[in-house]
Amino acid sequence: MANGSGGTLAFDSGELQKRESPAGSLLDYLKPKKSAKHGTDNLLLTCMDYRLTGHTQRYMKKRRLAGKFDHIVLAGASLGATCADVPEWGATFWAHLNTALSLHHIKTVILMDHTDCGAYKLFLKEQYPQKKKEQLPCHFETLKKLEAQILEKFPELRVEKHVMHVNGKVVDCKD
Ligand SMILES: [Zn+2]
Repeated sequence: MANGSGGTLAFDSGELQKRESPAGSLLDYLKPKKSAKHGTDNLLLTCMDYRLTGHTQRYMKKRRLAGKFDHIVLAGASLGATCADVPEWGATFWAHLNTALSLHHIKTVILMDHTDCGAYKLFLKEQYPQKKKEQLPCHFETLKKLEAQILEKFPELRVEKHVMHVNGKVVDCKD
């Protein structure tokens, strides 16, 4: 009988105790620490779409931000964070934004939607235009909505709003 004898596994009971209250430990861990030795200024929100991941990395590299940003991925990006059909996605967004603030003291949130987005098609149905150029106002509206929500909660943050085309070209959403 394998592993039947018992008594061969040694463990530190104090360590086990700590592991038995993961929620408490996590909350302790997330408390802002003034002495934190690392951090980043930027948090990026993008869609999950595989067609954009390479373009997104290149875009961040071009901005000299490669390897220097936190990254939240939600299908639909700004729509994923604000859509009433999937409130749990919104909750995930806010929890992660809070975590990025606590852990890395971010100062800027970069919102990056993209045209031809499957999540926009799924949630907005016929309200999402088929022609890519006509989709931009729809993205701008959602980006502005999320920006307003972020600034209401965290007025000290800076929010950037962009839309990436499937070819990697990025359009800025002006106020
Ligand atoms: Zn998408």
